[in-house]
Amino acid sequence: MAKETILVVEDEEDIRELLKYNLEKEGYQVLGAATGEEGLRAVRDRRPDLILLDLMLPGLDGLEVCRRIRGEAQTQPLPIIMLTAKGEEADIVTGLELGADDYIVKPFSPRVLLARLRAALRRRRQPLPPQTAPLKTDEMVIHPGRHEVLLKGQPIQLTVTEFRLLHLLVRKPGWVFTRTQIVNEIHGDDYPVSDRSIDVQIVSLRKKLGIFGSQIETIRGIGYRFKD
Ligand code: CA
Repeated sequence: MAKETILVVEDEEDIRELLKYNLEKEGYQVLGAATGEEGLRAVRDRRPDLILLDLMLPGLDGLEVCRRIRGEAQTQPLPIIMLTAKGEEADIVTGLELGADDYIVKPFSPRVLLARLRAALRRRRQPLPPQTAPLKTDEMVIHPGRHEVLLKGQPIQLTVTEFRLLHLLVRKPGWVFTRTQIVNEIHGDDYPVSDRSIDVQIVSLRKKLGIFGSQIETIRGIGYRFKD
Protein backbone atom coordinates (compact mmCIF):
# COMPACT_ATOMS: atom_id res chain seq x y z
CA MET A 1 0.00 0.00 0.00
CA ALA A 2 1.31 3.44 -0.89
CA LYS A 3 2.24 5.60 2.06
CA GLU A 4 -0.32 8.20 3.01
CA THR A 5 1.01 11.72 2.80
CA ILE A 6 0.48 14.25 5.57
CA LEU A 7 1.13 17.94 5.01
CA VAL A 8 2.17 19.85 8.12
CA VAL A 9 1.64 23.61 7.86
CA GLU A 10 3.31 25.13 10.89
CA ASP A 11 5.62 28.12 11.18
CA GLU A 12 7.31 26.95 14.37
CA GLU A 13 10.12 24.79 13.18
CA ASP A 14 10.51 22.65 16.30
CA ILE A 15 6.83 21.69 16.30
CA ARG A 16 6.96 20.97 12.57
CA GLU A 17 10.02 18.74 13.04
CA LEU A 18 8.49 16.98 16.02
CA LEU A 19 5.36 16.21 13.99
CA LYS A 20 7.44 15.06 11.04
CA TYR A 21 9.48 12.75 13.28
CA ASN A 22 6.42 11.20 14.93
CA LEU A 23 4.46 10.76 11.73
CA GLU A 24 7.35 9.28 9.76
CA LYS A 25 7.92 6.82 12.57
CA GLU A 26 4.32 5.67 12.00
CA GLY A 27 4.94 5.13 8.31
CA TYR A 28 3.48 8.32 6.85
CA GLN A 29 5.17 10.43 4.25
CA VAL A 30 5.41 13.98 5.61
CA LEU A 31 5.60 17.29 3.78
CA GLY A 32 6.35 20.48 5.68
CA ALA A 33 5.30 24.06 4.98
CA ALA A 34 6.17 27.10 7.09
CA THR A 35 3.59 29.54 5.71
CA GLY A 36 0.01 29.45 4.50
CA GLU A 37 1.08 30.27 0.96
CA GLU A 38 3.59 27.40 0.94
CA GLY A 39 0.92 25.12 2.37
CA LEU A 40 -1.58 25.96 -0.35
CA ARG A 41 1.03 25.36 -3.02
CA ALA A 42 1.83 21.95 -1.53
CA VAL A 43 -1.88 21.09 -1.39
CA ARG A 44 -2.26 21.87 -5.09
CA ASP A 45 1.02 20.32 -6.29
CA ARG A 46 1.46 17.34 -4.02
CA ARG A 47 -2.12 16.29 -3.18
CA PRO A 48 -1.58 15.16 0.43
CA ASP A 49 -4.07 12.79 2.09
CA LEU A 50 -4.50 15.01 5.12
CA ILE A 51 -3.35 18.41 6.33
CA LEU A 52 -2.32 19.43 9.83
CA LEU A 53 -2.89 23.15 9.80
CA ASP A 54 -1.63 25.60 12.39
CA LEU A 55 -4.09 28.49 12.75
CA MET A 56 -1.61 31.18 13.74
CA LEU A 57 0.60 31.62 10.71
CA PRO A 58 2.36 34.73 9.45
CA GLY A 59 0.77 36.13 6.29
CA LEU A 60 -2.07 33.95 5.13
CA ASP A 61 -3.43 32.48 8.37
CA GLY A 62 -4.78 29.00 8.95
CA LEU A 63 -8.44 29.98 8.69
CA GLU A 64 -7.86 31.58 5.29
CA VAL A 65 -5.94 28.50 4.13
CA CYS A 66 -8.86 26.35 5.28
CA ARG A 67 -11.35 28.59 3.47
CA ARG A 68 -9.39 28.37 0.21
CA ILE A 69 -8.96 24.60 0.38
CA ARG A 70 -12.69 24.16 0.93
CA GLY A 71 -13.45 26.69 -1.81
CA GLU A 72 -11.86 24.69 -4.62
CA ALA A 73 -13.60 21.60 -5.97
CA GLN A 74 -10.36 19.64 -6.34
CA THR A 75 -9.08 20.25 -2.83
CA GLN A 76 -12.47 20.45 -1.12
CA PRO A 77 -12.58 16.87 0.30
CA LEU A 78 -9.08 17.03 1.86
CA PRO A 79 -9.25 16.24 5.60
CA ILE A 80 -8.02 19.16 7.73
CA ILE A 81 -7.04 18.99 11.39
CA MET A 82 -6.38 22.40 12.90
CA LEU A 83 -3.56 22.93 15.36
CA THR A 84 -4.57 25.59 17.82
CA ALA A 85 -3.41 27.24 21.00
CA LYS A 86 -5.38 27.28 24.22
CA GLY A 87 -7.98 30.04 24.28
CA GLU A 88 -8.59 30.09 20.52
CA GLU A 89 -12.17 28.77 20.86
CA ALA A 90 -13.61 31.44 18.58
CA ASP A 91 -11.14 30.53 15.84
CA ILE A 92 -11.81 26.83 16.35
CA VAL A 93 -15.54 27.44 15.90
CA THR A 94 -14.87 29.46 12.73
CA GLY A 95 -12.55 26.75 11.41
CA LEU A 96 -15.10 23.98 12.04
CA GLU A 97 -17.75 26.06 10.31
CA LEU A 98 -15.40 26.54 7.37
CA GLY A 99 -15.28 22.77 7.14
CA ALA A 100 -12.21 21.68 9.11
CA ASP A 101 -12.61 18.09 10.29
CA ASP A 102 -11.15 18.39 13.74
CA TYR A 103 -8.76 20.36 15.92
CA ILE A 104 -6.03 19.65 18.43
CA VAL A 105 -4.97 22.08 21.12
CA LYS A 106 -1.24 22.60 21.69
CA PRO A 107 0.64 21.23 23.50
CA PHE A 108 -0.63 17.83 22.39
CA SER A 109 0.59 14.31 22.97
CA PRO A 110 1.77 12.49 19.83
CA ARG A 111 -0.45 9.56 20.78
CA VAL A 112 -3.60 11.70 20.83
CA LEU A 113 -2.60 13.39 17.61
CA LEU A 114 -2.11 10.06 15.85
CA ALA A 115 -5.45 8.75 17.06
CA ARG A 116 -7.28 11.84 15.77
CA LEU A 117 -5.39 11.75 12.51
CA ARG A 118 -6.25 8.09 11.92
CA ALA A 119 -9.89 8.78 12.78
CA ALA A 120 -10.03 11.65 10.26
CA LEU A 121 -8.48 9.49 7.53
CA ARG A 122 -10.85 6.62 8.34
CA ARG A 123 -13.92 8.88 8.21
CA ARG A 124 -12.93 10.13 4.76
CA ARG A 125 -12.60 6.58 3.48
CA GLN A 126 -15.99 5.54 4.80
CA PRO A 127 -18.75 7.59 3.25
CA LEU A 128 -21.54 8.78 5.52
CA PRO A 129 -24.50 6.43 5.85
CA PRO A 130 -27.50 7.64 3.82
CA GLN A 131 -29.87 9.98 5.70
CA THR A 132 -32.55 7.31 5.76
CA ALA A 133 -30.40 4.35 6.88
CA PRO A 134 -30.96 3.01 10.40
CA LEU A 135 -28.00 3.75 12.69
CA LYS A 136 -26.81 1.34 15.35
CA THR A 137 -24.46 1.93 18.23
CA ASP A 138 -23.79 -0.55 21.06
CA GLU A 139 -27.16 -0.14 22.75
CA MET A 140 -29.07 2.24 20.50
CA VAL A 141 -30.89 1.93 17.19
CA ILE A 142 -32.13 4.99 15.33
CA HIS A 143 -34.70 4.53 12.53
CA PRO A 144 -34.87 7.83 10.63
CA GLY A 145 -37.75 6.65 8.44
CA ARG A 146 -39.90 5.78 11.45
CA HIS A 147 -38.58 8.57 13.66
CA GLU A 148 -37.94 5.90 16.24
CA VAL A 149 -35.16 5.41 18.78
CA LEU A 150 -34.68 2.16 20.64
CA LEU A 151 -32.50 1.96 23.73
CA LYS A 152 -31.68 -1.66 24.56
CA GLY A 153 -34.70 -2.56 22.45
CA GLN A 154 -37.05 -0.17 24.25
CA PRO A 155 -38.52 2.78 22.33
CA ILE A 156 -38.03 6.24 23.82
CA GLN A 157 -40.15 9.31 23.11
CA LEU A 158 -38.29 12.21 21.55
CA THR A 159 -39.58 15.47 20.12
CA VAL A 160 -38.90 16.07 16.42
CA THR A 161 -36.05 18.44 17.27
CA GLU A 162 -34.47 16.06 19.78
CA PHE A 163 -34.70 13.27 17.24
CA ARG A 164 -33.03 15.30 14.53
CA LEU A 165 -30.35 16.45 16.92
CA LEU A 166 -29.53 12.89 18.02
CA HIS A 167 -29.57 11.60 14.46
CA LEU A 168 -27.21 14.36 13.32
CA LEU A 169 -24.65 13.65 16.06
CA VAL A 170 -24.77 9.85 15.82
CA ARG A 171 -24.47 9.87 12.05
CA LYS A 172 -21.00 11.37 12.41
CA PRO A 173 -19.60 9.92 15.62
CA GLY A 174 -16.51 11.68 16.94
CA TRP A 175 -17.29 14.77 14.90
CA VAL A 176 -17.53 18.10 16.71
CA PHE A 177 -20.56 20.14 15.64
CA THR A 178 -20.74 23.83 16.51
CA ARG A 179 -24.09 25.22 17.65
CA THR A 180 -24.48 27.10 14.38
CA GLN A 181 -23.88 23.93 12.39
CA ILE A 182 -26.48 22.11 14.47
CA VAL A 183 -29.01 24.93 13.98
CA ASN A 184 -28.43 24.90 10.23
CA GLU A 185 -28.75 21.14 9.99
CA ILE A 186 -31.83 20.54 12.08
CA HIS A 187 -33.72 23.71 11.36
CA GLY A 188 -37.28 23.23 10.15
CA ASP A 189 -39.98 25.71 9.15
CA ASP A 190 -42.34 24.44 11.80
CA TYR A 191 -39.90 24.59 14.70
CA PRO A 192 -37.51 27.49 14.86
CA VAL A 193 -34.27 26.59 16.61
CA SER A 194 -31.81 29.09 18.01
CA ASP A 195 -28.18 28.79 19.04
CA ARG A 196 -28.91 28.80 22.74
CA SER A 197 -31.96 26.59 22.56
CA ILE A 198 -29.63 23.83 21.35
CA ASP A 199 -28.18 23.67 24.86
CA VAL A 200 -31.67 23.23 26.28
CA GLN A 201 -32.45 20.51 23.75
CA ILE A 202 -29.25 18.70 24.64
CA VAL A 203 -30.11 18.71 28.35
CA SER A 204 -33.52 17.23 27.62
CA LEU A 205 -32.13 14.70 25.15
CA ARG A 206 -29.48 13.53 27.62
CA LYS A 207 -32.14 13.05 30.27
CA LYS A 208 -34.21 10.89 27.93
CA LEU A 209 -31.16 8.84 26.97
CA GLY A 210 -30.54 7.98 30.64
CA ILE A 211 -27.18 6.34 31.20
CA PHE A 212 -26.38 6.81 27.50
CA GLY A 213 -26.79 10.56 27.82
CA SER A 214 -23.11 10.89 28.62
CA GLN A 215 -22.32 9.70 25.09
CA ILE A 216 -23.17 13.24 24.04
CA GLU A 217 -20.13 15.24 24.99
CA THR A 218 -20.06 18.99 25.57
CA ILE A 219 -17.00 20.62 24.02
CA ARG A 220 -16.73 23.79 26.06
CA GLY A 221 -16.96 27.00 24.09
CA ILE A 222 -17.31 25.05 20.84
CA GLY A 223 -20.21 22.61 20.60
CA TYR A 224 -21.14 18.95 20.93
CA ARG A 225 -20.13 15.54 19.73
CA PHE A 226 -21.27 11.96 20.03
CA LYS A 227 -18.40 9.92 21.46
CA ASP A 228 -16.75 7.69 18.89
CA1 CA B 1 2.03 29.34 14.66
